[in-house]
Amino acid sequence: MSDESVSKRLKVMKKSDELLHYNNSKTNKEMKYFNFVGAEGDNAMIVRCYITSKFNTIEPGLSFRFQNLTTRGKNEFWATSKTIISYTSTVDVSPDIALPCLPEKMPPDGLNHSLQEALNSPEKSSIMGKIVKVSPIKYVRDGNLAVKSILLKDNSTVAKVCLFDKLAENEYAEGNNLQITAVYPKKYLGVDQLTATAVSKCQFLSDQNFPEMVEEDLQIFQNDEDFFNSVSDLQASIVTLTDILDIDIYDVCAKDACREKKMLKDKCPICGGKDKKNERNIRVTFLYSTESKQDERSTVFKNTLREIMKDNFNIESKSACLSALLEKLPIKFKCYITAKNSFYNISQL
Ligand SMILES: [Zn+2]
Repeated sequence: MSDESVSKRLKVMKKSDELLHYNNSKTNKEMKYFNFVGAEGDNAMIVRCYITSKFNTIEPGLSFRFQNLTTRGKNEFWATSKTIISYTSTVDVSPDIALPCLPEKMPPDGLNHSLQEALNSPEKSSIMGKIVKVSPIKYVRDGNLAVKSILLKDNSTVAKVCLFDKLAENEYAEGNNLQITAVYPKKYLGVDQLTATAVSKCQFLSDQNFPEMVEEDLQIFQNDEDFFNSVSDLQASIVTLTDILDIDIYDVCAKDACREKKMLKDKCPICGGKDKKNERNIRVTFLYSTESKQDERSTVFKNTLREIMKDNFNIESKSACLSALLEKLPIKFKCYITAKNSFYNISQL
């Protein structure tokens, strides 16, 4: 963790009820401190204050300037003997700010939250919901870690929850009600989801009523490959183009009906015409990898190549095209892969 020093003006929102302590195992000294939640505008943070003489000064409702706070995490700071604390004029705080829990008040299973609250919470949550979809089990990290995803629905929303290890190896049935403790929010491919931790527990519930699943619930997850059942399903993949096997640039027949047919000896093999288009076409055979496969082949033509290169590509000489492409490798994007290894619905990551 970085020891970066920062200065902040904060309004104190809440603080520990009493001084807390722990034994520093290195120095065998008892360390005393208290926590408070400070806020400015939309931002709330937890500060651990080792200056115990300030325990009665730092009161909720008052604002202070803190110089030389030590950064301990994204929204966590320490006030130490280096920190200078001074009174300051009232710091404005957004009225609908979500305040974090004081660390000593955090239940080990997390706070009881609706799925939507859990997705927005910076802290761990305990959630409940009806299972609307269960993914097949997958093994990552060279087959050592089991991963399973489920969609849970409650009155607030539908959320994807990722389970690991033993929890992933459990059987889950659609329609069952489930409680999962100690989950954190995480963003994956632009979608907010929840992820279980090593201390998470799952428990089936019998006495809960959650709304029934409707088709729309699955909409934002329909391209989520975690929920596809087999590789034969058309699935959205993250493709990485790694190598170029072959490249060709060629004249095409001018007639639209011949669909960019390659001219052979200045003649269209389909219509026999000799007129060619101004712009030539390009064919590139790539080797690519996805999360599950390596060294697959895909042949890509002009339009797909433009999508992949974000239009940033001119068809010039073969060597110029080749070096322009090689310079960009590896190229990464998201798309569907057909059974014949064609890419479509290409989107940038
Ligand atoms: Zn033709």
